[in-house]
Amino acid sequence: MDRLAATESYTEPELTMSNIETIAVHAGREGRKPGDPIADPIITSTVFHKTMSGELVDGLLYTRHDNPNRRALESCLAQLEGGAAAAAFGSGSAASMALFHALAHGDHVVAPIDVYYGTRVMLDSLYARWGLNVSYVDLTDLSALQGAITESTRLVWLETPSNPLLTITDVAAICEIAHRAGSVAVVDNTWPTPVLQRPLVLGADIAMHSTTKYLGGHADLLGGCVIAREENEFFERVREYQKVGGAAPAPFDCWLLRRSIATLPYRMRAHCENAARIATALSEHPAVEIVHYPGLPSHGGHDIAARQMSDYGGMLSFQVRGGRKESLAVAGRVKLISHATSLGGVESLIEHRASVEAPGSGTPDNLLRLSVGIESVGDILDDLLGALET
Ligand SMILES: *Cc1c(COP(=O)(O)O)cnc(C)c1O
Repeated sequence: MDRLAATESYTEPELTMSNIETIAVHAGREGRKPGDPIADPIITSTVFHKTMSGELVDGLLYTRHDNPNRRALESCLAQLEGGAAAAAFGSGSAASMALFHALAHGDHVVAPIDVYYGTRVMLDSLYARWGLNVSYVDLTDLSALQGAITESTRLVWLETPSNPLLTITDVAAICEIAHRAGSVAVVDNTWPTPVLQRPLVLGADIAMHSTTKYLGGHADLLGGCVIAREENEFFERVREYQKVGGAAPAPFDCWLLRRSIATLPYRMRAHCENAARIATALSEHPAVEIVHYPGLPSHGGHDIAARQMSDYGGMLSFQVRGGRKESLAVAGRVKLISHATSLGGVESLIEHRASVEAPGSGTPDNLLRLSVGIESVGDILDDLLGALET
């Protein structure tokens, strides 16, 4: 009785969330009443009771279509990017597929030459069969983009900073060219996260993420999402692929991801702070040929990054003096840092990228990619400096 009485007189406080730290904690959890749990419950049920006359309550029918945990997550993701709507997927790759599936046979896609390797494999295998035509373009050269655009160009894909060379491309300028051509502009915002870069504010139509990386942040969940600036027909097709195609994430994964996002802004600060210190130290090390980190003033994309990012991120790569053998030896000698693929978790990871990519990928053979974790920066540095000493 007490609870009901309290509920009836309860007025929802006005929550205007414009600051990302507050959004990360509260978005998707609005409208809580006295007696409601503070932490989100996990609703594993795949089906929901209808009313006696057969109507849905709160639009809930079946978990492939929608689920309270997915709804909370999608609301949070949309607010993080400043979008109108978000669709969550079982992986970043499924989110990318939803975007390419929204296109039609014969459509033309422009993607960066250094697009995430898995996206390239997807376009060259699955979507070549599906009938999409793709041009890989150096998007640091706007005239090259202009030249690659055809009458059938329907989607321009951006990814900045790129993987693994941390190349920076100008999001606002590229979106403008894409829009003039009547194309949708998509930014794979996995690396910077909405904490550091806001593609929808810079002019993109879509921000996509592999939430497996920083948003999840603990190397324990696989997920992806598509966030749209407008709920238009293109986004409806993405939604269709999620609901009708069934590329939906499980309620537990949605819950875990929503939980992890609460700390995202603070994790990103630590990742950035540590990465900046490490990039500077490595750039002064005699065994290192070059460091690729957009926060270094010597980096080719530093000025654009300073304009479109609020900080420079937790990813860097560096080339070890020598070749493949010398760089693999460094990756083999680290102790605190794990020698593993992927990125964005609280733990530092190092990887020899050329080994996981096909020959001819263009990644230098002496390059190591570092996902800087949130351990003590002194401990990470000691580990790296120890591994660099031969
Ligand atoms: C990991 C990654 C993907 C693919 O996401 P999955 O969750 O592994 O399917 C796409 N883009 C970028 C930039 C990535 O790092």
